[in-house]
Amino acid sequence: MKRRKFIKNTALSSIGVTFGTSLLGCNNTDQKNSEEKIMATDNTQFPIAICTWAFTAANAKAGEELSKGKPALDAVISGVEVEEENLKNTTVGKGGAPDREGNVTLDACVMNPEGDCGAVVYVNTITNVAALARKVMEETPHVMLAGEGAEEFGYSQGFEKENLLTEESRLAWEEWKKSPEYKPIINIENHDTIGMLAIDKDGDIAGACTTSGLSYKMKGRIGDSPIIGSGLFIDNEIGGAVATGMGEEVMKTVGSFLIVELMRNGMNPQEACEEAVRRIVTKNDRYKDFQIAYIAMNKKGETGSYCIHEGFTYMKYQNGENKNIPSDFYHKG
Ligand code: ASP
Repeated sequence: MKRRKFIKNTALSSIGVTFGTSLLGCNNTDQKNSEEKIMATDNTQFPIAICTWAFTAANAKAGEELSKGKPALDAVISGVEVEEENLKNTTVGKGGAPDREGNVTLDACVMNPEGDCGAVVYVNTITNVAALARKVMEETPHVMLAGEGAEEFGYSQGFEKENLLTEESRLAWEEWKKSPEYKPIINIENHDTIGMLAIDKDGDIAGACTTSGLSYKMKGRIGDSPIIGSGLFIDNEIGGAVATGMGEEVMKTVGSFLIVELMRNGMNPQEACEEAVRRIVTKNDRYKDFQIAYIAMNKKGETGSYCIHEGFTYMKYQNGENKNIPSDFYHKG
């Protein structure tokens, strides 16, 4: 690309990221159309990867894969695997906190640019559940497999059978059982479900969401994370969104689907995340007791995030830089 065009496009791209709505709101239709066209077809700002919380290494991994030219779905799965395999992370993958009976059960889903999706829930013996969800999407006629059925399918696809309860998580659970109070903590340890969205060099969007769910949940409980439309939703024409936090509340408002639909109707990712949080807090006066956070990305590569309580941050990889960005929040005291 000629240098002048590169500079022009890069400048327009960064205007788009920061002032997306002002551009859309400008009166000069011709100027607006030509700018939008350049932004929509300009790949210099791509690829981009974003993920929930300060999962720096996971997002860097996705960014690295994207920079090598890998498609968005490959990148998000490689990215979230970093946390699924991180034994120190007690909210995702192996090493995740168990339910009240001591079972670690993992949930995950993925969605590709074609609008296909796959999910697994209540998986007790396989670490890489996002990759397993991808296999459900690609190798079965179904969207979701649960429990033993998901595990047996996983072994048939070459996934290893593992004990997901680490000694550290077992000891923490034994400790918890001494006074078993079930009380989700806002911003628990500042790391939670990992939800990741990527837009690859071709401008195609995919996402993954993977979790061990709420610590010490009831046996059998499934949250929002593996539910397409709640924990994750992608429409490659519009953008994508993912959620973290109190899954029950995300499910009641089908949060990620809502955000994508709000973007379809003209909101930028930031406005859409804010509106989705507003839907929850205006209908539920218990919002002071739980955290929910959304991140979203649109087809132009604009991103946004919003949460109920201060403390949520997200990662953004773009142009070789992997930054941690504090999210704006609703409850300002
Ligand atoms: N959303 C997850 C769930 O409800 C948990 C979390 O993100 O903290 O299972």
